[in-house]
Amino acid sequence: MKPSHTSLDQPRPDGAFNWESFTRYWLDVVFPPRCANCGRLDTTLCVTCQTRLDALPLKYLERMLPPFTGLISTESHRAPILRRLIHSLKYDNMPHLAQPLGIRMATALQHYDWELDLVISVPLHPHRQRERGYNQSAELAKVVSEVLGLRELSSALQRTVNTRSQVGLGQQQRLDNVAGAFDADPLSLAGARVLLVDDVLTTGATMQACAEAVIAAGVHSIYGVTITSAS
Ligand SMILES: [Zn+2]
Repeated sequence: MKPSHTSLDQPRPDGAFNWESFTRYWLDVVFPPRCANCGRLDTTLCVTCQTRLDALPLKYLERMLPPFTGLISTESHRAPILRRLIHSLKYDNMPHLAQPLGIRMATALQHYDWELDLVISVPLHPHRQRERGYNQSAELAKVVSEVLGLRELSSALQRTVNTRSQVGLGQQQRLDNVAGAFDADPLSLAGARVLLVDDVLTTGATMQACAEAVIAAGVHSIYGVTITSAS
């Protein structure tokens, strides 16, 4: 099988050996990419599974959650293909999966007449982002902003407290866990109509804490989108 990111045949203009390409090439040979849904040795999402994803209807699940003016998810978290893809996007070092998933979110958003200026994402604490190497929600926000022709400004919202995982916590514990954990930049956000992106909506406590920080920074309005909704 041909490695997916072969670029050894492209010499650097300065003639220096490209260690990054070399390492990526051999990583692909030793650990060839597998489809995140079916496990086939292929790309991170094989053509068959991409077709399955495309065939999965958009559900436009709407949630009323203050202070959001609008908040939607594209499907229930019970959809097996989406659960697997989101898990791999977060935990299996597959940031490329943000592309098909982000396109799905942007397509759902095109059915709403929300007027938006900026796209931001639920931030990871810098420690966790260093461990993971990327923030999956920021990767999704980049794709959504590209498709919708909006500016992406995830750097305007920071997680200042390294909160424990929300998994296994009740609603009130989740709210307490993330209260005051986020800090938004008024210089970047004041007066803007902002879209907040995340992967999964569970109780909404994290999205709400982010939205409150963004409101405190003086935005005009805050909207939200996630791939799935777990409720
Ligand atoms: Zn597959």
